[in-house]
Amino acid sequence: MLKGKTALVTGSTSGIGLGIAKALAAQGANIVMNGFGDVEGPKAEILALGVKVGYHGADMSKPDEIAAMMAYAAEEFGRVDILVNNAGIQHVARIENFPAERWDAIIAINMSSAFHATRLALPAMQAAGWGRIINVASVHGLVASAEKSAYVTAKHGVVGLTKVTALENATTGVTCNAICPGWVLTPLVQKQVDAKAAALGLSNDEAKKLLLGEKEPSLQFTTPEELGALAVFFCSPAGNNVRGVAWNMDGGWAAQ
Ligand code: NAD
Repeated sequence: MLKGKTALVTGSTSGIGLGIAKALAAQGANIVMNGFGDVEGPKAEILALGVKVGYHGADMSKPDEIAAMMAYAAEEFGRVDILVNNAGIQHVARIENFPAERWDAIIAINMSSAFHATRLALPAMQAAGWGRIINVASVHGLVASAEKSAYVTAKHGVVGLTKVTALENATTGVTCNAICPGWVLTPLVQKQVDAKAAALGLSNDEAKKLLLGEKEPSLQFTTPEELGALAVFFCSPAGNNVRGVAWNMDGGWAAQ
């Protein structure tokens, strides 16, 4: 379905970004990867799906590096047809104890990077008459939790940016939507499981059950594969008139 198209997925060396990149590649899309840590392992997983794969190591907190990444994608792949703004980090602390430097980093990586990549991707999508921008927000783009001030602020911002992007392009073939996962067992969440286990003297399994039980009525983690399938839907012809939604896949978290 996506053969000949190119998808740039930020933060695709791990977790949800890698899951979405693989789902898009399975539909034939070439992939531009981004993110830190091991690149070769995840790259091999995507290459195995028979598509072309590139990589740019831009730090998503730096607008000039985001511009270099978008220029690399245009040069190597012609243009970016699908942009998935996914890179993100977390820090958990009460506001009075929240390090100002962590606040700035979360706002830059989780929110402003989506604006910078979007503003640079839009002209080529508009010229082509087709494009998909998918922002990986969070259930925390819809509701709040204590001790996540920067994250909740950034994710609410991303949902707002999604709506404006969708409206400004509503008469074109360019759509923009947000995906709002609940708990997904990636390294980002494993850190929170570990912190809970250490603080309360629990096993890994007990801490996971507690985390789910506090927020997620299904008592199940959402998987990167399920989120990848939603991204594929947004890119399908059935998604042509889905514009500006913030679609939660959260086991009932936000329904409460
Ligand atoms: P993860 O830690 O597995 O992956 C994060 C990715 O972002 C990695 O590839 C990492 O290298 C990259 N990254 C981090 N900082 C970066 C930077 N400065 N520049 C470039 N890349 C950077 O985490 P994940 O859980 O897969 O998170 C992906 C997205 O999903 C994030 O935006 C996160 O907020 C969101 N999300 C996660 C959950 C969850 O439960 N895991 C729930 C809702 C939303």
